[in-house]
Amino acid sequence: MSLFAPALAFVDLETTGTAAAGDAITEVGIVRVETDGVGAPRVSEWSTLVNPGVPIPPEIQALTGITDAMVRAAPPFAAIAGEVLQRTADAIFVAHNARFDYGFLKHAFARLDRTFTARVLCTVKLSRRLYPDATRHNLDSIIARHALPVAGRHRALGDARALWAFVQALYRELPEETIAVAAKRVLRTPSLPPQLAPEALDALPEAPGVYLFYGLNALPLYVGKSKNLRERVGAHFSSDYRSPTDLRVSAEIRRIEFEETAGEIGALLRESTLVKSLLPAHNHALRRKEESGVLALGEPGDTPRFIPAAAVEPSALPGHYGPFTSRRQARETLRHLASDHALCWKVLGLEKRRGACFARQVKRCAGACVGAEPLAAHHDRLTAALAPLAVPRWPFAGPAALRERALVGDRVDAHVIDQWCWLGTARDDGELGRMLEAPPRPVFDADIARLLIRAFTRGAHDVVPLARVTTD
Ligand SMILES: [Zn+2]
Repeated sequence: MSLFAPALAFVDLETTGTAAAGDAITEVGIVRVETDGVGAPRVSEWSTLVNPGVPIPPEIQALTGITDAMVRAAPPFAAIAGEVLQRTADAIFVAHNARFDYGFLKHAFARLDRTFTARVLCTVKLSRRLYPDATRHNLDSIIARHALPVAGRHRALGDARALWAFVQALYRELPEETIAVAAKRVLRTPSLPPQLAPEALDALPEAPGVYLFYGLNALPLYVGKSKNLRERVGAHFSSDYRSPTDLRVSAEIRRIEFEETAGEIGALLRESTLVKSLLPAHNHALRRKEESGVLALGEPGDTPRFIPAAAVEPSALPGHYGPFTSRRQARETLRHLASDHALCWKVLGLEKRRGACFARQVKRCAGACVGAEPLAAHHDRLTAALAPLAVPRWPFAGPAALRERALVGDRVDAHVIDQWCWLGTARDDGELGRMLEAPPRPVFDADIARLLIRAFTRGAHDVVPLARVTTD
């Protein structure tokens, strides 16, 4: 059984229905089998009822024997999630129709804002591959075919035990090599490009950060970010769907590097920096953002001006609108505002013709272009329409730190920000002190400013003002 080292977790769930996204778990059973491939496997069993928080449909109560009365005093999933993680840690997740149980657990964890991932082995697929002549592969057929001892069918632990008995039966009936070949094919590992080491994914943490794909050159092919590095990188190579970029990356990739961050904001900041400094060949989407910027309103009658990011003085940001990812996006925004508020296309700089603007001709402009609306009144209405897009005033006298805490572990990243510009990220107070002694000049970056403004207005993070340390 060395194939299955270090552990297998046979998992079965009872639920209130069949929809992972909508139905809830009523019972979990896990048989964990630890094996070093040489000595006798160590087996530990665990099961618990789970309070689903909703009534169990009568037909399901009849099938499983789990009633509303039985789960009333049971713990909710949140209270047993930790135990599920422990009992499946480092193990191959084995289940019958694994997509069902795995999907339910993934959803249950997602509702707790946690991720659950495992290498999944489906015993239906394994049975199909090893016994291709058998017509039925449901659990009852498998139990009958292999004369498996069962007690407690349709209860979570009973069914999980049956799966463990099935795998033991395989080793009695078939050569180990045959089982190994079939299991490897069934294991739902993303098929990594052949140039990559098979364990390349295992080196990646299930944590937020950035990843860099390298080919033969010194510069990366692609830089990406994720809340879960291992899952995201695996998705690039999963056989379910591959974008044209993923196909090209798959052909050229030779190695993967990564950097962990405390959270998503840190990952986005780092990704943005790496993409801009390294210009990876396949990051087309991000590289195009060079002409981002903000809009400035002048005097009544002036056309709103687009100011490219490079020309924006950070301290002058409030009073501007945006940021926009491109000149075109700014124009599109003005066009929408014009049609929503009967603003004038000519005054907005959307067209240059003489006389009435196009919108006026179709009665969608209040008439600033033909003197029917005073320019000052139009200006007031434009200012009001743009107000929701105004860059907020920087709320501190100097720089501030947005502290982002890792969900797992004790890592805290302090992102140092001034005037909506990111000055850098410190991992500890020492680093933070050094950064404040010689703070870099704030440089405006539209993508980063958008992200920071959003993070601040959502208020989900801990932001502390930092005393500005003067050296003169
Ligand atoms: Zn007009």
